[in-house]
Amino acid sequence: MTFAIHGLAVSRGIAIGRAVLVGRVDVEHYFIKPEQIEAEIDRVRVGRNAVVEELQNLQVSLTQMGPKEAPHELGALLEVHLMLLQDDDLTDGVKHWITDRLYNAEWALTTQLEVISRQFDEMEDAYLRERKADLEQVVERVLQRMVGAALPMSAGQRSANAKRRKSDQQAQLDGMLDDTVDVPLVLIAHDLSPADMLQFKRSVFAGFVTDVGGKTSHTAIVARSMDIPAVVGARSASQLVRQDDWVIIDGDAGVMVVDPSPIILAEYGFKQRQGELERSRLNRLRHTPSITLDGQKVELLANIEMPEDAKVAVDAGAVGVGLFRSEFLFMGRQGKLPNEEEQYTAYRAAVEGMHGLPVTIRTVDVGADKPLDGWREKAGKTSKDESYLNPALGLRAIRWSLADPAMFLTQLRAILRAAAHGSVHLLIPMLAHASEIRQTLALIAQARADLDERAVPYGPVKLGAMIEIPAAALTVKLFLKYFDFLSIGTNDLIQYTLAIDRADEAVSHLYDPLHPAVLRLVADTISEAQRQGKGVSVCGEMAGDASFTRLLLGLGLRSFSMHPAQILTVKQEVLRSDASKLKAWAQRVLEADEPGAVLSGMA
Ligand code: PEP
Ligand code: MG
Repeated sequence: MTFAIHGLAVSRGIAIGRAVLVGRVDVEHYFIKPEQIEAEIDRVRVGRNAVVEELQNLQVSLTQMGPKEAPHELGALLEVHLMLLQDDDLTDGVKHWITDRLYNAEWALTTQLEVISRQFDEMEDAYLRERKADLEQVVERVLQRMVGAALPMSAGQRSANAKRRKSDQQAQLDGMLDDTVDVPLVLIAHDLSPADMLQFKRSVFAGFVTDVGGKTSHTAIVARSMDIPAVVGARSASQLVRQDDWVIIDGDAGVMVVDPSPIILAEYGFKQRQGELERSRLNRLRHTPSITLDGQKVELLANIEMPEDAKVAVDAGAVGVGLFRSEFLFMGRQGKLPNEEEQYTAYRAAVEGMHGLPVTIRTVDVGADKPLDGWREKAGKTSKDESYLNPALGLRAIRWSLADPAMFLTQLRAILRAAAHGSVHLLIPMLAHASEIRQTLALIAQARADLDERAVPYGPVKLGAMIEIPAAALTVKLFLKYFDFLSIGTNDLIQYTLAIDRADEAVSHLYDPLHPAVLRLVADTISEAQRQGKGVSVCGEMAGDASFTRLLLGLGLRSFSMHPAQILTVKQEVLRSDASKLKAWAQRVLEADEPGAVLSGMA
């Protein structure tokens, strides 16, 4: 039966494929070659046998203990675990996913775990229902004991997977949906963290839907950077969809259609084709300079997460990187932070990848919805700590860096060293206090002195501050005394001005870039920076949303930083705009009680 699930539209486009429900995404997902089937099945077998042996040894030692140290429940539990491990449902299912779908071993095992977990959920008997947790535990043990862990995907496999994504889309267009392994897969999960998204970036999925998340959560941001259709905040999607269901993700409307009828499928196939045509039309603008009708140059920069994204930025026609979110280098590392050399190599790769165009590297912004694993012990309470109630207001970004000067100095030295290889701008997130500015500048001076002492070469950097806390926007003159440029982080500026958690779908309807208070802070920041002849850009999601381009141009903005995938749509808007005529209109929007109505021409 066809039904639709509504959520928040976060990344454009249409994906049609089979649902893959994953409880966990921290395992590799890739397709194996048919000749690897036996080896993959064997990896699971070896892992399972190792756990069986481990549990049997435990059983033996239990029998040698007295009833006091070895309570009866423990023996019964081991028995249950052994039974679950040796159950045909688990082994046969895993074999099926590997043989018929060519999933790698970890993916097959976690997929089958999901399938069986559902069966447990549906059981009437509470005792049996609770065995789901036992199953999860034994599968976790098997994953840990599997030989060789996941083979990292070879470059060849990776590009084959990427091609498969593309050619699958083509196959759908030709109406060739069938039951072979060659169908696109879309991921349905309760939640994906930004670190999961890094894993996801290297996987095979053509789109995703999550139960939770807001429009400008970092998970949504990474989806946009991957330019794949995505819907977040779809509440109980992961409960309503079953493994292998056919689904359509409409990333423009924020809807997922489950089990679509042939007519709906045809309709979305058509929409998908239109989208592709629109993209190839826009592609022709790649080399067109971004200049308004009245001759104003507008700088379109890229937001990136990893050094390899620099190539995507150049290909999309970006004239530089306006925001390199360096924290993605720090994620998914089980608390082991990258050292100076590793960071230097990454920053240098981004700088060289831009071939002389400027790269703005933002110092680490972890915390809130970008927690670092294993960090709790070091920093005391962090957003990972369940007892920490307001992570977005906590030890985040520059606060985190200043709380650990050694870590911050390591990063600063790495960035300064990368600046010897090209044009680098150093950007500091979430500043609010004069004391934070003072401490930051002192640490930058110290990083330079450290490098001098070691006689390590480094380059000059332009220094920028993010304006993303209302307090910073209201005291922008202070910031302009110390910094060469400003970058307005509208995602957080909106969050902190309106007291709306950007990652919480329950309040996402109140997350309003057009709230008069937000617009006032943005407008005043732009005009003060310009009055003082300093650079100012917007690097929040507002900059990449073409429906705000004219307004921002009218407010005087001439530098926009966004995901590479958004650059051409925004450029098209710039090319069609007459900035001189937008000024008065933008003032009207700014002064309106409901700017949204003026913007959409309804007032
Ligand atoms: C912002 O807050 O607008 C911004 C660009 O930073 P981030 O989204 O990484 O918090
Ligand atoms: Mg921010």
